[in-house]
Amino acid sequence: MKSDIEIAQEAALAPVKEVAAVYGIREDDLELYGKYKAKITDELWDRIKDRPDGKLVLVTAINPTPAGEGKTTVTVGLGEALGRLGKNAMIALREPSLGPCFGIKGGAAGGGYAQVLPMEDLNLHFTGDFHAITSANNLLAALLDNHIQQGNALGIDPRQILWKRCVDMNDRVLRNVVVGLGAKADGMVREDHFVITVASEIMAILCLADDMKDLKDRLSKIIVAYNFAGEPVTAGDLHATGAMAALLKDALKPNLIQTLEHTGALVHGGPFANIAHGCNSVRATKTALKLCDIVVTEAGFGADLGAEKFMDIKCRKAGLKPDVVVLVATVRALKYNGGVPKDQLSEENLEALKRGIVNLEKHMENIQKFGVPVVVALNSFISDTEAEYAYIKRFCEERGCEFALAEVWAKGGEGGVALADKVLNTLENRPTDFHVLYEDKDSLKDKIGAIASEIYGADGVSYSPAALKALKRIEEMGFGNLPVCMAKTQYSLSDDQTKLGRPSGFTINVRDAYVCAGAGFVVALTGSIMTMPGLPKKPAAEGIDVDGEGKITGLF
Ligand code: ADP
Ligand code: MG
Repeated sequence: MKSDIEIAQEAALAPVKEVAAVYGIREDDLELYGKYKAKITDELWDRIKDRPDGKLVLVTAINPTPAGEGKTTVTVGLGEALGRLGKNAMIALREPSLGPCFGIKGGAAGGGYAQVLPMEDLNLHFTGDFHAITSANNLLAALLDNHIQQGNALGIDPRQILWKRCVDMNDRVLRNVVVGLGAKADGMVREDHFVITVASEIMAILCLADDMKDLKDRLSKIIVAYNFAGEPVTAGDLHATGAMAALLKDALKPNLIQTLEHTGALVHGGPFANIAHGCNSVRATKTALKLCDIVVTEAGFGADLGAEKFMDIKCRKAGLKPDVVVLVATVRALKYNGGVPKDQLSEENLEALKRGIVNLEKHMENIQKFGVPVVVALNSFISDTEAEYAYIKRFCEERGCEFALAEVWAKGGEGGVALADKVLNTLENRPTDFHVLYEDKDSLKDKIGAIASEIYGADGVSYSPAALKALKRIEEMGFGNLPVCMAKTQYSLSDDQTKLGRPSGFTINVRDAYVCAGAGFVVALTGSIMTMPGLPKKPAAEGIDVDGEGKITGLF
């Protein structure tokens, strides 16, 4: 069996301008980053913005397990399969973060014969968007500390600084640091913190901004600290907006690359779904919708996080609506949810499947609450058996959901034709009645309560005193109308990562909350969720190398 990177390196890529031409994108509309990557200019958007939108397909999944689910793989394969069926389809994905690339998970360019290319570039520096975001984030941090050093005219309370530095790396020692050690000229000493770049508010802003004007407006609203009077101090107050926007000028433009079968993929932005909102940029999704009939996009982690935020944050704010949701599951992950240890997942086990399928069931019910039809895509692994397939198929169909086997990892687009057929059939015959889960005017606690009970299946929510105080303050500042972005473990529907399947009889514990005034959401922190991950005992980085010809190995 070839590795992902071997398959990717054997592929013959088409020049990106040829990929673009299929969608009516002219060479003039591209800013080339070499032969196989390009950014889309603003002029293209101006030309196509009044066209009708194509259909929007969201790919999401059951809760992730160490067994692997394959959302990106299915997204890519489905896009290719739609092309094989004569549809003008495009893919809209997030850019990978270096953290997981060098940690446990590896890259995020799909897998097997369903990948986007060039995978090494995409998984490493790509077109520099994440570096630009990191720079903009840290410029703001530098301006903030300098402001204090230079006399602190805004009266920033050093004990109430919210803005954190960032780096696109899993680096646990940066979670809590002390800055400003040394002499008087070396700045004020204070405790500081790093987050991973994908958790930076600037990442979320870039992904939700409509255009440069909106980007600047959002950047200026970022609350960086409180002053001694307890009032918010913003990036605008620090005169940081213009320089940050200048750093982000190119990062704001979507990136066009291709799949193994030359289907176009707009890959842009990359917030994680557990600590941020988990969707690619609004700009890329909207551009894709104007360029083709069907857009296939992915939201991060399980549907409790990625899909909920896709609907309640991205769609609500950008006026988008999904036409069908593809819910990815695997036999292995369902058996894992049914209590089978990781090293025994290759054995047929219908009893464990029956115990674990309740996780899929809950996610199917959840998506239906948003008024969108569901197609379950079973990502096929070679260890699966016919009996296991048959059981899952019947389970889905009994609950009003279409079912298809996705063999895209092994066969590329051809292996996704059955799924594409079901998706097309659903688009044609199943009307949608899309609606968000809660209203803007609901209180923040009601919003959190709605997500906890409706989506997670919790009995209720408990709040720490700090969380209650924070929520009250956020509402008093006038941000009570914003949607909520839950920071929660991806491994369980609950906030306890050990509770697999479909947990019941639990409460969600909100320990703190803060407002991302620029991104436009309120983050509720549950459990012990980390905004700066760490590396495992044996990081993937140890297996990565490059030879004298520049050929990279070990990325997966
Ligand atoms: P997600 O987007 O859900 O995080 P990915 O699509 O990135 O998942 O896949 C994660 C990993 O699992 C990739 O390395 C991919 O090659 C592997 N993978 C996905 N589908 C299969 C499959 N059907 N068989 C074997 N490996 C797979
Ligand atoms: Mg993915």
